[in-house]
Amino acid sequence: MSNRIGVHALVWVGGWSEAEAHTAISASAKAGFDLIELAALNPETFNAQMTASLLSEYRLQAAVSLGLDEYTDVSSDDDQIVAAGRARLALALNLVRDIGANYLGGVIYSRLGRYAQPVTARGRANSIDSIAWLADKAAASGITLGLEFCNRYETNVLNTTAQTLQFIEEIGRSNVMAHLDTYHMNIEEESFRGPVLAAAAAGKLGYVHVGESNRGALGNGSIAWAEFFSALREVNYGGIITFESFSSKVVHPTLSANLSIWRDLWTDSMELATAARAFIREGYGC
Ligand code: MN
Repeated sequence: MSNRIGVHALVWVGGWSEAEAHTAISASAKAGFDLIELAALNPETFNAQMTASLLSEYRLQAAVSLGLDEYTDVSSDDDQIVAAGRARLALALNLVRDIGANYLGGVIYSRLGRYAQPVTARGRANSIDSIAWLADKAAASGITLGLEFCNRYETNVLNTTAQTLQFIEEIGRSNVMAHLDTYHMNIEEESFRGPVLAAAAAGKLGYVHVGESNRGALGNGSIAWAEFFSALREVNYGGIITFESFSSKVVHPTLSANLSIWRDLWTDSMELATAARAFIREGYGC
């Protein structure tokens, strides 16, 4: 397979100053990755030109992900909050375009965090309309959108592959894909193989996060890796596979809190990333 293998920026750094960007991009390349996934929760704070120049210097590609907050939640019933969410997503889209990337994913359809009640019918419709609107803007720059379903404690809109595929069908845009993450699948799905096959059969398997059950080092948890990698091989998945892991060693002021990263699961980023790169090669053959 000729998949591109990525690493999430939070393996290296919690912010995106020029020094942090240099550390993260150079270390990703050194650890053998093709791509870095940037966490652009506040896309307006990213220096696109500096980022593009470092990516080019280290011959690394990039993808961008984010989760919305309570003030920008496009699944809200409040039209003003939805409008603020669309404005933030449009800025993120500009960032993707300006760094020469072509993927914007994550929890772009909802707030990232725990809700106290199910999504309303109006909120779900607002989210579908917003993603359709964003997809049309994205298509003009050749950008694909990925909807990353999360476990029940991180969103109330999409918790499974089946829900995500139904949502995508209602959006009705060819550049909106499903983003599968083993950490969330482990909590909400009945198996690892079924969802991979379902997403592939719909032509919507767009992006993959490999994360352990405790979000630590790959192989140190209870994810059924043989089943998951074998399902990816079964559908001939040729897209991006990005390693995602979090520890209290590297803190992003909002993301770490939203994801409840309270423990120190690892301390040496390079050791973690190098082992993850080898784990993916051994498990998937690339
Ligand atoms: Mn993920």
